[in-house]
Amino acid sequence: MGKIDEYIKTHNCKPKELVYHTWRDAKNAEKKPTGKIRVLVDKDMVARVEYTCPECKHQAYAEQPWKRPFSIKCAKCSFKITVPKMKDEAKREAKSQPAEEGKE
Ligand SMILES: [Zn+2]
Repeated sequence: MGKIDEYIKTHNCKPKELVYHTWRDAKNAEKKPTGKIRVLVDKDMVARVEYTCPECKHQAYAEQPWKRPFSIKCAKCSFKITVPKMKDEAKREAKSQPAEEGKE
């Protein structure tokens, strides 16, 4: 762990400039928050992910193309860890996409 912190330091990332950055509880098959997942997406649209698998507790770092809805497979047990969209986050995203404004 600590890879994302390292990335932020090395690239001098400003929170405002990041496409996406979150740190969540990761839920296991029984919907219990027994793991953690951190996702950082920079302007290159690559998701940098650190997770503790909620099923097997495996800790790892991975990179993969960013897309919604986002999920990543545990490298050890192949459990699919998902990042659910939060309500306030959806709002913020809607605000930053004023595509429908000005049509009226
Ligand atoms: Zn696992």
